[in-house]
Amino acid sequence: MLKRKLEINEVLNNQQIREIFLCSSQGGMRKSNRTNSLTLISDKTKLYDDRIIEDIYHYSGMGQSGDQKMRGQNLTLAESNQNEVEIHFFEVLKPKEYTYRGQVQLAGEPYQEQQKDRDGNQRMVWVFPLRLLNSKAKFTKTSSTEGDEKELKEEFLSIQQVETLPIEQTEKERLMKARIGQGKFKKMLIQRECKCALCGVTDERMLIASHIKPWKFATNEERLDVHNGLLLCPNHDNLFDKRLISFNRNGEIVISPTISITDRTFMNVNERRRIVLTEKQGSYMESHYKNLL
Ligand SMILES: [Zn+2]
Repeated sequence: MLKRKLEINEVLNNQQIREIFLCSSQGGMRKSNRTNSLTLISDKTKLYDDRIIEDIYHYSGMGQSGDQKMRGQNLTLAESNQNEVEIHFFEVLKPKEYTYRGQVQLAGEPYQEQQKDRDGNQRMVWVFPLRLLNSKAKFTKTSSTEGDEKELKEEFLSIQQVETLPIEQTEKERLMKARIGQGKFKKMLIQRECKCALCGVTDERMLIASHIKPWKFATNEERLDVHNGLLLCPNHDNLFDKRLISFNRNGEIVISPTISITDRTFMNVNERRRIVLTEKQGSYMESHYKNLL
């Protein structure tokens, strides 16, 4: 039994985890015999090879260098469907903040694969497919893996080449927007959620990825930042791009007073709509919001 019940998405610090689970305050897999639990920590602030495929989290086992062995915590997890040890899952999205995602269970047989260890040497690790027990809970899909970032950088370098083309500035901007809106940047946004942030459109073919802080004003780092992105349907993208709609800090829509009531209906915008903004998206949104027409 845990010292107290935890809410899904509750944020704890390391000390609280230690007190509630009566486990060690270190490591990514913390076993506690006193609470008959195994606490798993997925630290998104570090580079790792974990991945989420169709809501199954593929969690790499314990052992930082050399081949991982099926013993200790790895064995406890492998046998967790029989040994009745409760498996609890946390994500670290910001340093020192542990977000509780609830209990997980093995969704399939653990398997081995090659990964690089901390010294860059290839070794065998154990991977555990995990599923959340609570249907309301969700794993955070991160897209900041090395491969994605490299691909995105290369794509953006090629987009920057557009600047050198002997064409009108407005044409350059149109071309760049089209490329950003349909390429790797869009894929990374889709990995987070495949839906217009404002309405119900979910068809990938129609969705467009926009930069909240426009390409021409953004630094290279901001251009590559997925938090500076917003996925919208063509209609809402158009309004957002023209600064006829924006969003305040709470994600509530603000509509330009220059749009008539009738057109608002036709364009599917009304004052009740709101979107979910991460803190970083919110800070990119600020200047967009201030420049509403
Ligand atoms: Zn929409």
